[in-house]
Amino acid sequence: MRYQHSREESAEILRRALQLMSPHQAGYHPVSYAVWYEHAGDLNPALTQELEKLLAADARLTDEDVSRLHGVHIAGRDVRAFELAQNQLREVLGESEKQAAHAERTVKRFTANLDEAIEDVRQQAAPADTFTEKVGKVLAEAAQLQSVLGALHQQLTRQRQEVDQVMERLERAQTEPLRDPLTGLKNLHGLRRAIEARGSSRLTAVAFLAADIDHFKHINDTYGHVVGDKVLAKVAGILREDLTGEDMAARLGGDEFAMILPDKSLDAAAALAEKIRAAVTRTVITRTDGTQYSGVVTLSIGLAIGEPGDTMESLRHRADEALYDAKDAGRNRVALAANSTPDSSAAT
Ligand code: GH3
Ligand code: MG
Repeated sequence: MRYQHSREESAEILRRALQLMSPHQAGYHPVSYAVWYEHAGDLNPALTQELEKLLAADARLTDEDVSRLHGVHIAGRDVRAFELAQNQLREVLGESEKQAAHAERTVKRFTANLDEAIEDVRQQAAPADTFTEKVGKVLAEAAQLQSVLGALHQQLTRQRQEVDQVMERLERAQTEPLRDPLTGLKNLHGLRRAIEARGSSRLTAVAFLAADIDHFKHINDTYGHVVGDKVLAKVAGILREDLTGEDMAARLGGDEFAMILPDKSLDAAAALAEKIRAAVTRTVITRTDGTQYSGVVTLSIGLAIGEPGDTMESLRHRADEALYDAKDAGRNRVALAANSTPDSSAAT
């Protein structure tokens, strides 16, 4: 559906894409073809918008840039939502088809009976009482036809509304990204989708880390928003470092991050939280004039463990409460939710 061009049009888009690619450092590989092709063919407005911003800043895009753009705007598209919406659309249209076929059969029967009655009148073939009986039958069928058509009309109106809803959902699936463009981590929507895909019953005994940068407003105010953005990207890089198996990290918004660690025991999750906390304190901030500062960035972390019946929201809520405890206790520390005490926690 996405690539609907003729061979000639595709060739022209590819030619333009290759031209656009050439000044950049990123290699010629399928990921970069896809990014430049979608941009050159005007197929992906969100991708084009971000790419144009980078190009306006005279950036020479690296492999890392291109694969981030690909992750956020191409691979990160909500494929599952698309499939669900497509199936719903198919069901809705299938139902319409059945109703329309029923109406068609009723119309045919009505027409045949009417023809027969007209023929009788023309030939004056039937005695008056038989004729009256036939007219009565035709009238009864006309009433039935009217009710079938009325029902069909109602059904079509209802289905038009359903189709509108599905189209809206499809549009959202196409525009609502699953990743955060600044850090390349999953966003809240992406994290929800990933958890739904696992099945929320599988949150039992899974560690959830809620993390928030300490006094981030002050960092922005002191060093500027651009440095603030770099800090967010660096913290994201630290969170990403030790992910294995089904572990995931996300930026939920602002300076708030989350990790879900199905691949780690509670002890390992607590130890990882402490490792992350310590790594963040070693972040070096570089101002545009080259001056460097360290020991400025710290992170508070709350850790909770999934219980049977937990949803992402209930588990996140307990991790957030532990996070508030960490903030209250002076920040730059890891706090465990009440039910989440490991036998031997490395966390402080
Ligand atoms: P606390 O220790 O209590 O968390 O204090 P804080 O200053 O970090 O407070 P809070 O977490 O509420 O502040 C979040 C700040 O993050 C506020 C907002 O200006 C900033 N922010 C949100 N999104 C972005 C962004 O994308 N880039 C930058 N640079 N700053 C952002
Ligand atoms: Mg904060």
